[in-house]
Amino acid sequence: MPTIQETLRQQRTYFFSGETKSVNFRIHQLETLKDAISENEAEILSALKKDLNKSEFEAYSSEVGILLKDIRFTLKHLKRWAEPERVKTALTHFGSKSYIYSEPYGVCLIIAPWNYPFQLQISPLVGAIAAGNCAVIKPSELTPTVSKVIAKLIRGIYEERYVAVVEGGVEVSQELLEQDFDKIFFTGSVNVGKIVMEAASKRLIPLTLELGGKSPTIVDESANLELAAKRIVWGKFTNAGQTCIAPDYLYVHKKVKTELVNKIKKYIHQFYGKTPLENPEMTNIVNEKHFRRLSRYLAEGRIITGGMKNEDSLTIEPTLIDQVSWTDTVMQEEIFGPILPVLEYESIEEVISTVRKYPKPLALYLFSESKGQQKYVVESLSFGGGCINDTLLHVASPYLPFGGVGESGTGSYHGKASFDAFSHQKSIVRQTNRFDIDFRYPSNKNGLKIMKKLLK
Ligand code: NAD
Repeated sequence: MPTIQETLRQQRTYFFSGETKSVNFRIHQLETLKDAISENEAEILSALKKDLNKSEFEAYSSEVGILLKDIRFTLKHLKRWAEPERVKTALTHFGSKSYIYSEPYGVCLIIAPWNYPFQLQISPLVGAIAAGNCAVIKPSELTPTVSKVIAKLIRGIYEERYVAVVEGGVEVSQELLEQDFDKIFFTGSVNVGKIVMEAASKRLIPLTLELGGKSPTIVDESANLELAAKRIVWGKFTNAGQTCIAPDYLYVHKKVKTELVNKIKKYIHQFYGKTPLENPEMTNIVNEKHFRRLSRYLAEGRIITGGMKNEDSLTIEPTLIDQVSWTDTVMQEEIFGPILPVLEYESIEEVISTVRKYPKPLALYLFSESKGQQKYVVESLSFGGGCINDTLLHVASPYLPFGGVGESGTGSYHGKASFDAFSHQKSIVRQTNRFDIDFRYPSNKNGLKIMKKLLK
């Protein structure tokens, strides 16, 4: 195995050969990736089952299927995205033409987390390839079977000088962060995001940070409670709550709390059975450390439903708790598990002022039939993205850039935004030599007068 430094040298040499920049080359590599994912589908699903007990339905829809759709979308639009874009020319630039070239950064580093370990590693890679880069990718060590499958799949289709997989944990990640990459794309926790940003700042490396945090879900008194309950249960308990944009806590209007909670209970039973721990399709918590962390939350507040757990299978029932306060750890940390605290409110201003006290969330969901309330909440609070009357769905559209703001992240991707995340926009003026307007030169007598007119 070459060292990380050697891999980087090889990739830089290969990048400078210009081969990866050809649009036909990029299309071919994306086709190859798509075929490899389809051919290895069974192995990918089985690795996700082994590491996280993901059901085939969840694994296909949120990891494999969504990725294939992403690649097909990119293939369909890539030629147009990669073309230099002609833009208007200012009057001051009369005679010239103006263009924006999307130029690949060069050699990119992509670090992934464990919760959607396949999709969150490969989806940014699709953007890197589409934009014409080389890449080093590092899967999460907490999902080792998926990490091995990624390494085998990528090594089976790409040379190391183009896309290399480096497996390992924190130390490997830290070594990678010391290298001179042209772009870093990191998905993971806020705390590690800060370490990554510090490392990138030493060399001023362009950086995308896809982080996490506490995403509020607000249900007002006008909401369609039946649908709200159904969609909240789906969004919260998919992947056992281990989703960066899962509803972290629920803020419900006092008048409708009891009704909403009863409906949520109904849908938990409908989706996962009356005894969820006996359901063989329950996704497990990734490891004992996270299982213990989540178990501690169960001791805070009052359990409304759920609360049972199985240490052997690392599973926890979908759980609702109330009577928690903002000083409890469950309200201080990102939950990232199947526990949903329920807070009640009387006025929406109360909710807005509380949410504003904390870092800007990655996602926010509002359930309301009132257009006025929808506008008020969306325009009053800053957050990465979200849904009105649904959960999670904004992440799955190639037409919507996905990312956080402030502590929940920097930059975005998906669809065209993925291509942009791995491209530098280079502005070019192509001047004419057919004539030369000389008012800009110092010797021109009327220069200042003309300049004042043009810059008005
Ligand atoms: P993590 O930050 O612990 O790990 C992410 C990656 O960073 C892993 O590959 C890991 O090896 C590496 N890493 C860990 N510690 C490091 C260190 N000290 N120095 C350098 N590298 C280090 O995150 P996780 O536990 O794998 O994932 C869960 C977190 O990711 C949650 O906070 C979740 O919200 C967030 N997340 C965000 C998104 C998004 O798209 N915004 C998606 C999924 C997960």
